[in-house]
Amino acid sequence: MTRNAVVVAVDGPAGTGKSTVSRGLARAMGARYLDTGAMYRMVTLSILRRGVDLADPEAIAAAADVPISVGYDPDHDRDFLGAEDVSAEIRGEAVTRAVSAVSAVPAVRARLVELQRDLASGTDSVVVEGRDIGTVVLPDADVKIFLTASAETRARRRNNQNIRAGLPDDYPTVLADVRRRDHLDSTRAVSPLRPATDAVIVDTSDMTQDQVVAHLLELVEQRSGAVR
Ligand code: C5P
Repeated sequence: MTRNAVVVAVDGPAGTGKSTVSRGLARAMGARYLDTGAMYRMVTLSILRRGVDLADPEAIAAAADVPISVGYDPDHDRDFLGAEDVSAEIRGEAVTRAVSAVSAVPAVRARLVELQRDLASGTDSVVVEGRDIGTVVLPDADVKIFLTASAETRARRRNNQNIRAGLPDDYPTVLADVRRRDHLDSTRAVSPLRPATDAVIVDTSDMTQDQVVAHLLELVEQRSGAVR
């Protein structure tokens, strides 16, 4: 079958530049962009606001059915919980600390994976960013990319982002949080973070974001040529 739409899965841990690079790639391809981490963050925000016990997976599962909607535009993707724009709040400290516990609950994943498949379907190209896109959500994606970088590089990047956002300069805490989230995300029973067997692994430690986008665009051109 001939088709021009290309589905790209971009997975990898926090701090690899995944969001910026996925947005840049979507822009360069003229594709839609779907940030699945934002969806886990929105469910987490709702759960925190309701005061649900994060150690109680059943209570989390029962509270996870909330109306979330995400944007598709790589330059302006706003995230809504009901009618409220929560784009800034979901990236704050409280949600970042709690999101791994919420995303480890199978019922939460089942609901969000279904929604993600729905949102990614269609006739136009899409870049879908997350942790389990190439392995679970879209195993038939045309191009699968797994971004990596050392924990130290990722912590340094995250700490610099925090400083730019007016948060305290605290590299040791950020490094500990990067390691904690890596551990939780890669050892959870459901959809642990790991590259798909057919993913291209790209180590971004010594690359600028522009270099990574250019490299991914080349990969997409090479690989999507093969599916046309
Ligand atoms: O990508 P981001 O840092 O916004 O993701 C926040 C959290 O959501 C991750 O640490 C992970 O626990 C969870 N997540 C996930 N599966 C995805 C995307 C995100 O479990 N596809």
